[in-house]
Amino acid sequence: MPLLLLTNDDGVHASGLQALADALRELGDVWVLAPEREQSACGHALTLHRPLRVAEVGERRFAVNGTPSDCVNLGVLGFLPERPVLVMAGVNHGANLGDDVTYSGTVSAAMEGTLLGVPSVAVSLADGGDFAAASRVARLVAMRALVAGLPKQTLLNVNVPAGTARGVRVTRLGHRVYSEKIVEQTDPRGRAHYWIGAGDPQWEDVEGTDMGAVHEGYVSVTPLHLDLTNHRALARLAEWQHGLSAQLRGAPRPRPRRP
Ligand code: MN
Repeated sequence: MPLLLLTNDDGVHASGLQALADALRELGDVWVLAPEREQSACGHALTLHRPLRVAEVGERRFAVNGTPSDCVNLGVLGFLPERPVLVMAGVNHGANLGDDVTYSGTVSAAMEGTLLGVPSVAVSLADGGDFAAASRVARLVAMRALVAGLPKQTLLNVNVPAGTARGVRVTRLGHRVYSEKIVEQTDPRGRAHYWIGAGDPQWEDVEGTDMGAVHEGYVSVTPLHLDLTNHRALARLAEWQHGLSAQLRGAPRPRPRRP
């Protein structure tokens, strides 16, 4: 049986992770390596400045005092008896859509797997949804990924709507409208403190996005790659290369033009 590595950012005891493990059992040898406590919105953080400890909490289930990316790094690079053929992260409690994927520990775990050369899928469930149903979707996607493989350096970000899904849409990331403000409050000792991310996110309502698909009741499957380069901007910034190089070598600065 091929080895499957499961992790999440809600913690090793989260019910979404348990549902995913149950659903994937027939596809392979399921090993769970997950944070000992919730790490939502930890992004792609790695723990480099203290040792990581791994505690066995069940059969092939381990709690790590680190982040989801730590778990994948450990699992792929030698903690497990063999290299996993697939990394599955989730099922996350709450959707991971659009610009928010950069904050997500769930999606970052799949990024880490992809960086290490293992096909990886992140699965998240919209509020009010059913983990068992989402895990059945996850199993179908996992089977396809195992049989057909994934495009190079590409992970899948899967979001499952609440209720019965109307179908599946392959989507691109949507964009947030950052209209919310920080919330400033005063504590009992008269000092100011702040809450960020406290409002309901607003989204650009654009056809073809992950947000749009989930909003309409479809499972969203978004292929993500890790090349953050803006390839179209390369040409536009080419002149910076010459100008900055010349300045670095001490050439006179171009004079600002007078009107
Ligand atoms: Mn989470």
